[in-house]
Amino acid sequence: MIFKEKRFVVLGAGVSGISAAKTLRELGARVTLSDKKRPDILTPAMSALKETGVVLALGQQDETLLQDIDYLVLSPGVSVYNPLVQAAQARGISVVSEIEVAYQLCRAPMIAITGTNGKTTTTTLVGEMLQQAGRQVVVGGNIGLALSQEVKAVDESGIVVAEISSFQLEAVDQFKPHIAAVLNITPDHIDRHGSMETYIAMKERVFSRQMPEDYAVLNYDDGIVRSMAERTASQVMFFSRQVELPEGVFVKNENLTIRWRGAEHEVCSLNELKIRGNHNVENALAACGISYLAGLKTAVMAAVLKAFPGVEHRIEPVGTINGVEYYNDSKATNPESAMKALEAFAGHIILIAGGRDKKTDLAPFMHLIQEKVDTLILLGEAKERFREAAKKQGIGDIRESATMAEALETAHSIARAPQVVLLSPACASYDMFRNYEERGRVFKELIRGLS
Ligand code: ADP
Repeated sequence: MIFKEKRFVVLGAGVSGISAAKTLRELGARVTLSDKKRPDILTPAMSALKETGVVLALGQQDETLLQDIDYLVLSPGVSVYNPLVQAAQARGISVVSEIEVAYQLCRAPMIAITGTNGKTTTTTLVGEMLQQAGRQVVVGGNIGLALSQEVKAVDESGIVVAEISSFQLEAVDQFKPHIAAVLNITPDHIDRHGSMETYIAMKERVFSRQMPEDYAVLNYDDGIVRSMAERTASQVMFFSRQVELPEGVFVKNENLTIRWRGAEHEVCSLNELKIRGNHNVENALAACGISYLAGLKTAVMAAVLKAFPGVEHRIEPVGTINGVEYYNDSKATNPESAMKALEAFAGHIILIAGGRDKKTDLAPFMHLIQEKVDTLILLGEAKERFREAAKKQGIGDIRESATMAEALETAHSIARAPQVVLLSPACASYDMFRNYEERGRVFKELIRGLS
């Protein structure tokens, strides 16, 4: 892609879209940024863009946008099934995602991490390991800033770690990371991709252009991901939490172990991991495999795994009061995620749950609550349905609160070590908060007030 003087329309004026427009403009391209929504006032970022000569087309999107353009760039939120995108394809216009633009601008080798769950945790871990090893590293993609902006900060000697969603893979072209990881695949986002087959095909694009000198890191325990090995041209490194592999990353005598090309290394013991839960063991295994292929020593990986407390809002340790540990798992916006958190503890949990109800089946969640939770404290719009489901399961100690402060006061007044207090709502946050981040921050501030 040669950017100078080429004409681009960027669809979607979110963080990624704004960043892509800015970057393309800096490279001399002629750029229009388009969004269906018209904001009440232009944000400072959009005003700044306009000053650099980017044309803003806000409030309406129709085919006139496509006249005489060379490329249509999609933000992660814009689907390839969008009628305008389809119209562009019919006209032979190149349709690419923001991640493709980032890839083409990137001078450093790229690590790309995708999967249904665990992307942010694994990406962050790999970034920390590379940083600790003294490498010049940029971490981005689905997290933080847009990648097209960030990749400019590193040259050939650096390395880029990108968290990639299946949406971003819908429109890639040359994209070819040196190391591509697929963590797991469970039915999710099928509404957008149309079918499980399409969803899997999208994920496979993360390695579909790889060559024999590249690597694919794949989860052996996930049947769908394991079978992807048959379709890679690159070298496959498997990781597994469940079996000792002839080669790859796995658990041996409770130790995280790497066996690769005739050499075997112990990284650390599982109980030295600071992040909790089996799902996080999988993330740690993947992170070690990736880092090993990127040339890191196991001592660096071990140092990071022993210290890394997890990403904010994901079973995040907040503090200890009178021997009772408090955890913020506000990112658990559905019962499946909250179950991961419950499974990470031996029991003795005081659970704060509820929020905007996603109306999914609660039976497995309540079953696990009965096994692990001493007191269930309910919040938000979901209160009633959750209470009924809990009663049906025979759960005895159920409390209700009007606010997060009240829920925490209740938890604080009854909790005795070795109990832990866990916020893992199993619900969206929008009934009481702007988003799950705000919910988590409010929870943490309230805890600081208690101690
Ligand atoms: P993502 O970026 O893919 O959303 P995160 O690392 O932010 O993933 O984790 C989000 C939630 O997904 C966690 O709170 C946990 O409930 C669940 N999760 C994380 N890692 C895994 C994994 N390896 N397998 C299954 N579920 C996971």
